[in-house]
Amino acid sequence: MSGTARIGVTGLAVMGRNLARNFARNGLTVAVHNRTASRTRALVDDFGDEGSFVACESAEEFVAALERPRRLMIMVKAGDATDAVIEEFAPLLEEGDIVIDGGNAHFADTRRREKALRERGIHFVGVGVSGGEEGALNGPSIMPGGSAASYEALGPLLERIAARAPDGTPCVTHVGPDGAGHFVKMVHNGIEYADMQLIAEAYHLLRAVAGYSPARIAETFRTWNTGRLDSYLIEITAEVLAHTDAATGEPFVDVVADRAEQKGTGRWTVQTALDLGVPVSGIAEAVFARSLSGHAELRESSRGLPGPGPAALDEEAAARFADRVEQALYASKIVSYTQGFHQVRAGSEEYGWEVDPGAVAAIWRAGCIIRAAFLDRIREAYDTRPGLPSLLTDKLFREEIAAAQDDWREVVATAARQGVPTPGFSAALAYYDALRADRLPAALTQGQRDFFGAHTYRRTDREGAFHTLWAGDR
Ligand code: NAP
Repeated sequence: MSGTARIGVTGLAVMGRNLARNFARNGLTVAVHNRTASRTRALVDDFGDEGSFVACESAEEFVAALERPRRLMIMVKAGDATDAVIEEFAPLLEEGDIVIDGGNAHFADTRRREKALRERGIHFVGVGVSGGEEGALNGPSIMPGGSAASYEALGPLLERIAARAPDGTPCVTHVGPDGAGHFVKMVHNGIEYADMQLIAEAYHLLRAVAGYSPARIAETFRTWNTGRLDSYLIEITAEVLAHTDAATGEPFVDVVADRAEQKGTGRWTVQTALDLGVPVSGIAEAVFARSLSGHAELRESSRGLPGPGPAALDEEAAARFADRVEQALYASKIVSYTQGFHQVRAGSEEYGWEVDPGAVAAIWRAGCIIRAAFLDRIREAYDTRPGLPSLLTDKLFREEIAAAQDDWREVVATAARQGVPTPGFSAALAYYDALRADRLPAALTQGQRDFFGAHTYRRTDREGAFHTLWAGDR
């Protein structure tokens, strides 16, 4: 038996509820279900007038409410709960039905689940959804994986609820087979970590070196947001910095404990990058910076270690320094995205996904946390040269870094001289210099490896693997 609901959502906490409302507001009949039925009733009671919902108490009722092929979206807590829900529903489904996981799953779990359901004739689509609860309701950036056939049945529905880029195109595309969608969502979050870290370093430099107040820095960020750094994260940074704590009258940023937390997708990005052998140093530094900030005892015991402090600048020098920080931030941002897109390419090659990086940049232009004018430039770079080996080699980015690099180097040097930690800016610059170097000291590393472990080395003048008979070998 099949019903009339175009799609079903099970798991009606904040994300599932908002996605269900988004589907309904866009004219689709939505079957809704939750393990605890009171949530289902609350959704229909509170928002039933927004569109057409079919409230279902049991799994059987839910499956029966869906038109065929059934599109059943799971929005439950990521991990074991997703497996439990799949096991509950799979026996009730028929060949050709589509199970969609919109949770924050690890792409390896998505690959495993896709394979298992494929063997039972059921499509499994892992979908990355970015934009938080507000995005889920008003238009997220959506990154679906799964088979091309499943996208034919699902894509048009996702296009209705997705965010719209400035040119009006929906921020959803078929990223690639099996876990490609969740992989790309993971890298999105890794880039988000790097973006946030770079912005935090820019703030720290403006505060410590330029001597600006949080309110003044908010103004600076607002100005930057009208230029090439125009982005959601810069915009909300200005809001946070301009905010005053109601209880104390102090700048909000000064009353927040300086220990950053994380849910784990940044860590997944770095772990996966290590497995793939991709140098995502900016993302790694961002994850480590959060980790370091949380080591309260270590920080406490290290306070007072010798080192320089910031030197005060006069007004004119401070303004000049602020301009330099903008250049350093922009150049470092280009490097972060270069590394993130390298990881997308490496994952695509490893798993045979054929991900189109330009299409990924296009769907990140709106709806998601890293949305930015900058992503249009990345899309253009890949559209102009689909096989672009690295974003750094794109003509425009290359020119922009050339123009920014004196200031970038000056900012990193000033930070080092004045004892302000800038792991993101510094790692980005080191990555840039390493890539452009004629020769790297890796040659020496190879010599050492051959010395102590007979690991062999390759030569610049001949093919083959070589081992030198070192003094210790004789
Ligand atoms: P959540 O707090 O992660 O999960 C709560 C939901 O999961 C409830 O509906 C709960 O049902 C259900 N659930 C938990 N264990 C279950 C089980 N064993 N069987 C059946 N249902 C179970 O909810 P959320 O914040 O809305 O997030 C949903 C998913 O979206 C997660 O995977 C999350 O990582 C992802 N996500 C979240 C955000 C965000 O900003 N929050 C953004 C993107 C993606 P009961 O009501 O019965 O407890």
